[in-house]
Amino acid sequence: MATSPYQWIDQALTTIHRASWHRTVQPLDGKAGPVLQHGGRPVVNFASNDYLGLAGDPRLAAAAIEAIQAYGTSSTGSRLLSGQRPIHQQLEQAIAAWKGTEAAIVFSSGYLANLGTVSALVGGRDLILADQFNHASLISGATLSGAQIQSYSHGSLDDLQQQLRTLRPQYRRCLISTDSVFSMDGDICPLPGILDLADTFDCMVLIDEAHGTGVLGQTGAGAAEHWGCRQRPLIQVGTLSKALGSLGGYVAGSAALIDFLRNRAASWIYTTGLTPADAAAALAAIAIVQSEPTRRDRLWQNVNRLKQGLKQQLAGPAQPKRLGQLLPSDSPIFCVQVGSAAAVLQLGHQLNAMGYLVSAVRPPTVPVSRLRLTVMATHTPDHIQALVEALGRVLSSVQA
Ligand SMILES: *Cc1c(COP(=O)(O)O)cnc(C)c1O
Repeated sequence: MATSPYQWIDQALTTIHRASWHRTVQPLDGKAGPVLQHGGRPVVNFASNDYLGLAGDPRLAAAAIEAIQAYGTSSTGSRLLSGQRPIHQQLEQAIAAWKGTEAAIVFSSGYLANLGTVSALVGGRDLILADQFNHASLISGATLSGAQIQSYSHGSLDDLQQQLRTLRPQYRRCLISTDSVFSMDGDICPLPGILDLADTFDCMVLIDEAHGTGVLGQTGAGAAEHWGCRQRPLIQVGTLSKALGSLGGYVAGSAALIDFLRNRAASWIYTTGLTPADAAAALAAIAIVQSEPTRRDRLWQNVNRLKQGLKQQLAGPAQPKRLGQLLPSDSPIFCVQVGSAAAVLQLGHQLNAMGYLVSAVRPPTVPVSRLRLTVMATHTPDHIQALVEALGRVLSSVQA
């Protein structure tokens, strides 16, 4: 009997629906910022990665427009062929200067930066030790590399050391890879301890600063600056698309590393160079991040405001049978764990109906479903207070 070779897709979708894992996209309207439009109504946005509120900044828009007028809309080819513009070099120099590294290279996205870097650094005779909660792009890069992949317990130096003792001698090279700020948890990696272990066991270290860049450290240079580790050998990957309000990814490190990636990172070589507009917007953002530390101060005031509010709301007497547990956070990312995927979806929809945009994150992205809230420098105290109250109301209604 002739059945369609595509029949299985319907069955797979049915399974996804049954588990409450099905995802859909929702169009949001209006300029990037703390308040967007959803279905014709305003929603306060606690779901974006635009931590410093730069994505809607007129100075980034002006820089992007100027670059389009100068160079056109596309870089028209691989950086190695026809895609290199002066703006790429300016951006890479600005990133290296800010990060305190010899050199930097920009990719067309953070995902591509991780894919290309991890797969270029290790191969079949090598070992990757990866934090169990690493971002999907680090995991994809590891798989692509063909190296032996071993995960260690989240943030555990003891487990990492144990595994290094057992496994390291069997392999040629070893790469320890970790998010700096964990994207779906909000805590940060114990970088100094990781670097010490890397010294002892002769390993390379790659940290993914997607959520650290612009947020952590005296000048916003990330977790490496926060921990005072910028002088140590380290591969720093990150994105231009979160606190920097643009699009693209980067790697910062030694001049030799960057030169090697230009020759070996397939996701840089075989793809079109970052657009001039994205490069210019990111360059403008880096200048603003360095010259306006008050933005970061306002972000951290809001982080502390939301943290206090959530702690009170989730621990208070109004929640006798606590549904949500607040995960430890050292960043603008806050996660409230909710047991089931169906419940977290319901909570997300209820908050949305009340005018708050929050993310309901479910497996397979995370092992346990959670509401994920991200705070921006441009939220007002009222936005935050109102969100905390709304969260309290929906949690008690689900419990009732
Ligand atoms: C968002 C993210 C990326 C991917 O960056 P893009 O520029 O959006 O492709 C990589 N790593 C982590 C930890 C992220 O959160």
